[in-house]
Parts: sequence; structure tokens; C-alpha cells
Amino acid sequence: MRVLVLDNQKQPLMPCRQARARQLLRDGKAAVFRRYPFTIILKERQGGDTQAVSLNVDPGSKTTGIALVALLQRGHVAIYGQHIVHRGQQVRDALESRRALRRSRRQRKTRYRKPRFLNRTRTAGWLPPSLMSRAHNVETWAKRLNRFAPVTSANVETVRFDTQLLENPDIAGRAYQQGSLFGWELREYLLYRHQHTCAYCHGLTKDAVLEKEHIMPKALGGSNRLANHVISCRNCNEDKGSLHPNVWMALCKQRGDKLNLTRANNMQRIMDGYRPSMKDAASVNATRYAVGNRIKSIIPNTQFLSGGLTKKNRSVQRYPKDHWIDAACVGPNGSAVSLECNHILIASAKGHGSRQMCLADKYGFPRTSAKASSVVHGFRTGDLVVANVPFGKKQGLHVGRVAVRKSGYFNIQTESGAVQGVSHKHCRITQRSDGYNFNYGAAIPPGTKVPGLLAVAR
Ligand SMILES: [Zn+2]
Repeated sequence: MRVLVLDNQKQPLMPCRQARARQLLRDGKAAVFRRYPFTIILKERQGGDTQAVSLNVDPGSKTTGIALVALLQRGHVAIYGQHIVHRGQQVRDALESRRALRRSRRQRKTRYRKPRFLNRTRTAGWLPPSLMSRAHNVETWAKRLNRFAPVTSANVETVRFDTQLLENPDIAGRAYQQGSLFGWELREYLLYRHQHTCAYCHGLTKDAVLEKEHIMPKALGGSNRLANHVISCRNCNEDKGSLHPNVWMALCKQRGDKLNLTRANNMQRIMDGYRPSMKDAASVNATRYAVGNRIKSIIPNTQFLSGGLTKKNRSVQRYPKDHWIDAACVGPNGSAVSLECNHILIASAKGHGSRQMCLADKYGFPRTSAKASSVVHGFRTGDLVVANVPFGKKQGLHVGRVAVRKSGYFNIQTESGAVQGVSHKHCRITQRSDGYNFNYGAAIPPGTKVPGLLAVAR
């Protein structure tokens, strides 16, 4: 992964290789500006040439992938990869527990308190707080990377499948030279519509391989359009082969076992025109659009793209599935991207503490004393520190995220585990808390075979 570089006016320059950054730091021509993402600031240089860099985002519910893709002389290269780990579930849980506490408070025999509910205005674009936290996380990082790298455009995957393309497949040939994109969009759409289960056996064969299936086989004149497709496991697909649906149905009935009767039954329903409902397809994409619009407000040159295209781009290059690799493959240039990262940054959202003044017991009564000041000897929970303990049981160098205690003896969460009771006197802040915890992860999941195109050298 490359190192982000600023000039002496804090304007972003082209990210450089790690070896180069090391040399600059050693020669005293640069200083560390920020630990995460690792950014250096040049002491003398002002301005410089930059190439086009696009910020690519693949929003996910648990993890969002981000990649910086630069257009270098040798083509499109992913020079920076990152995962954002969201805390949607924690936000949800916190609101649930608050709701329970308030409810129990209202049930008590105390003074009458007028009920207040449904009294909040929800402006356009309102999202549930758990989803909003995801949108905010992505916005934060788009802003940061835009400040530390010379970002010229952004590509955001906003939809899983392009419904316009599905309804009107003929535009595929004109819009995309390869023309086969329709198939990928269709597959994504069908997988979603059938909730990743076989439409014939409903998963009875336990075959994990799912394929798109022509109800009326192509050999018998079946069309390539949406209406003639379902998702089927390979087992059912091969069993049906190029038989006419009615013939296969009769054959299945004849066999008479549970699996085949299910198949016949479902085939009948499909022939009668049954398709699973797609009611919530819009809400699935609501968060992604919120993310997309936020990025667009930061980087005006932002394109919204579909998941079918991403998957196609990744598959033709035979890259393994990972969030940041998906991000690198988002967009029209994603079909020829070399990945130049040997590790990626993993930023896990940790929030900014709680506004709750004290913890409650299961009856909703205060369990602890009111909370102390969040700043202790200048440290705040979440700050990244280096603790150099010269003597005693905790002797050694500890680097990590600090949890402050009023006593002045802090806990430090290091990569190898928690170290407790380290005096504030030995601690030094390397980066103030910004609501995230940082790790580095393998860029390619260990044990994955990767084709030659991938340059994992540096
Ligand atoms: Zn099946």
C-alpha cells in the first residue's frame, strides 16, 4: 500500500511507495503527519504533478470497502485499500436498551407524564440511526482521503442490480462493448429475488452452487429475458437439462420422492406465473444512495454504479472476493485494475463514548455513580498512545488504544491483547481519538490463489 503525501502547504501530492517514504523520513525531508492513514508531510516541497485518482467505494452493511485507484502510465492501479467496519448493530442495541429503560420509567407509579410519541419530524432522506451511522462513517473517510490524496473522481456502488438494464436489455450492447453485462445484472437480481435459494427445490439438494436458469430452455426457443429466468442449484439445473418444463414436471412427479415432488410443485407455481415479491428492493438501496449522495457533495465528479458490473469486473480478472477488491473493481475502469497492496487499513468504528450519565441495573435504577470526566491527565479514551514502561511488571513498550481511568492508571488495547494499569506518566499520544480503532489486514485473504495480473510486490 502506498503512503499518502502532503506538501508543505498541506495540499495532497501523489501517494508514494513505502520505501520512498522511509527514505524521505530518514533524510529529514519529511515528517509523519498522521499515523492512520499513514500520511507524511514534505518539509520543503510545494505543489507537484499528480495523476488522476479515483475514490472507489463498495458500501456494505457490516464492512465497507474503499480503494484509491490511480491512472498511472501502466494503467489503472489500486494503490490504497481500506475496510471500514461499521457499528450498526451496536447503535441498534443502544437504542433498544434506551427504549426499554424509558418504557419501564413510564410504567412506574409516579406523577403522570403525558405520552409523547410519533412527535418527531422525519425530513426527506431520513434513515434509521443504525443505517445513518454507516453513511456517516463513509462520509468521514471520503472527506479524509479527499484531504490526504489528490482525488479527482469517485465511483460508488449504489445499486445491486441495474433495473433499467433488466427491463430494457437492448441498451446493454450500446452502453457496454462486451454486451454480456446484462447476464451479470440479471444474476444479481435473481439471487436477490430468490434470496439465494434454488427456486425448484428450495435448497433441499443442499447444493451451494447457484446458477441462473432458463425456465423454457434456450434449445426449445426460450428467451434470454428476465421473465424466463429463475435461480436454480446446479443439481436441479442439470437434472432438468434441456427438458420442456412440463416434461420435467411430469418426470419429477413420476419419481415421487420428497425432493422431486417439491420440484414439481414449485415448477407448477412458476409456470402459473409466481415470482417472489420484490417489495423492499428500494429500501435495500436507500442507504447506498445516502452514501453516494454524501460522497457526491464532497467530490462533485461522482458516478453511481451497479453491483452486477462490479462482480463482472472482479470475476473476469479472477480476483478473490473481498470488500476493498470489490471497491477497486467498481466502475467502468474496474475491469483492468492491478492491485498494488500487500496490506490494507482496517478502521473499526468505535463511537465517541456514551451520553448516558451512569449505568442502570435490570430494573432501570442507577447502578453506578455518575461518570467522571472523560479527560484524565490530558488523555481521552480512544487516543492512540505509546507507553514506555521502564520497570515493574508492565515493563516494556506498549502501543495501542487507551481506555482512561480516573486513577491515572490506564488500560491499553494493543494488537497482542490488553495491558492493564499503565500509569499515565509513561504514556505519550501519537494520534487523538477520532472514533476509530485501526489495524492492518492482509490485502488478499490468506490461502487464495491469485492470477498473474496481480502485483502484490510492494
Ligand atoms: Zn435445487
